[in-house]
Amino acid sequence: MSGETASHMNGSAASPATKWSPDSWRSKPIKQCPDYPDKAALAKSISELKRLPPIVHPREIVKLKQHLRDVARGEAFLLQGGDCAELFDYCEQNAIESKIKLLLQMSLVLIWGADKRVVRIGRMAGQYAKPRSSPMETVNGRLVPSFRGDILNGFHADERELDPGRLVRAYHHSSATLNYIRAAISSGIADLHRPLDWGLGHVRDPALKEKYSEAVKFLTEMLRFMHTIGADKNEKLDTVDLFTSHEGLLLEYEEPLTRLLDNPVHAPTSSSSTTYPKEYYNTSAHFLWIGDRTRQIDHAHVEYFRGIANPIGIKVGPTTPADDLLALLRTLNPSREPGKITLITRYGAGKVASLLPGHIRAVEDSEYARTVVWQCDPMHGNTQSVSGGIKTRRFSDIFNELQQTLRIHKDQRSYLGGVHLELTGDAVTECLGGSENLDEDDLSTNYTSFCDPRLNEKQALELAFLIADHYRC
Ligand code: PEP
Ligand code: MN
Repeated sequence: MSGETASHMNGSAASPATKWSPDSWRSKPIKQCPDYPDKAALAKSISELKRLPPIVHPREIVKLKQHLRDVARGEAFLLQGGDCAELFDYCEQNAIESKIKLLLQMSLVLIWGADKRVVRIGRMAGQYAKPRSSPMETVNGRLVPSFRGDILNGFHADERELDPGRLVRAYHHSSATLNYIRAAISSGIADLHRPLDWGLGHVRDPALKEKYSEAVKFLTEMLRFMHTIGADKNEKLDTVDLFTSHEGLLLEYEEPLTRLLDNPVHAPTSSSSTTYPKEYYNTSAHFLWIGDRTRQIDHAHVEYFRGIANPIGIKVGPTTPADDLLALLRTLNPSREPGKITLITRYGAGKVASLLPGHIRAVEDSEYARTVVWQCDPMHGNTQSVSGGIKTRRFSDIFNELQQTLRIHKDQRSYLGGVHLELTGDAVTECLGGSENLDEDDLSTNYTSFCDPRLNEKQALELAFLIADHYRC
């Protein structure tokens, strides 16, 4: 089947004017687009990416979409988290393991709290491209091109020129990261019978500490009990799934990894059938999202995203008119597949109350009612600079936006299906507050983010406990 004839399998309006192909985005206006000086090197990298095998398989992509359909129906909860900017250097055993363990621990707390299955997606194995508000920045008194993520240029001020060779390096780092995620999970890193180190020593408030200890005791006993009666075996609880995701920003990378492949659910049952559906899958990750700066309806990113069969996210913020939201849903999910679209809301603690209800009503009173996953990203609307220009976020603002979001969904009778967090398994000091009560003076102790400030392991776990508490009260 040719690319042309298969181009509307994903349900896009099938008029000649709207024909889709993996490169049809190239005819549209585009934001955040790199202008590579070396076009020959760019072409070489793209043809190498076209040759390399898929990083993820359609079967896994479809499985995630089915899980997200359950989330959209209110039957499961979605936990998505990882670095703001993943560096190639994070492709390393400890960094990968600590993130898997943190996501697992958080999801156990959420299962206990929300009494629902938890679907886990890492901002991992490909989160290498960053949108920037300014093309230039000053480093040590020198004006240099901004750091745009390891897939485009280097963080060091001398490495800011765009290097197309990084596209292929991104592929290999993404594959190696996912390879180790798969290996670690299948070898028992997420083995629920092993005692987990919950490390609650830092929690100073005695009432909080007692609450968390109670939860941990309950979880440990529950896991032991399930093991004793063999329920963990039957329910396949031995190990857990972890899907991968990144912002689909650099279309020069996404296009060559977009492949026309058999839909594993609708594969033919009889050999006589020749019309089984193939779909275009972005095989660089299970889930991709459109960022806040690139969701213009008539631009390149939306054009690219409307043709892929993966589940996709859309960042929604203070600058999203409700009408745009519906136009995006109609373009990106014309067949109204439940779970296909995750709306990742990120307004800021001061704005969520005035903006979220309107967005919920626009969607839930339309033909898209109960088809989307509503996910709260309480990070990106709450970034601020403190003295010395350091970017940080207050734990209290993050929790506040999340708490308001939970309440608003309840009032509107819709379902908050998940959270989207920037976090790391390391003991960084990038966000203020939390149980350790980090203050501005603490920020310099271990601030290692190359982009936005992340929750450290303790802050992330605490947020999971606070969400769990919301459900249990
Ligand atoms: C991000 O998720 O790192 C990001 C840049 O978010 P947004 O597009 O919502 O600003
Ligand atoms: Mn970020």
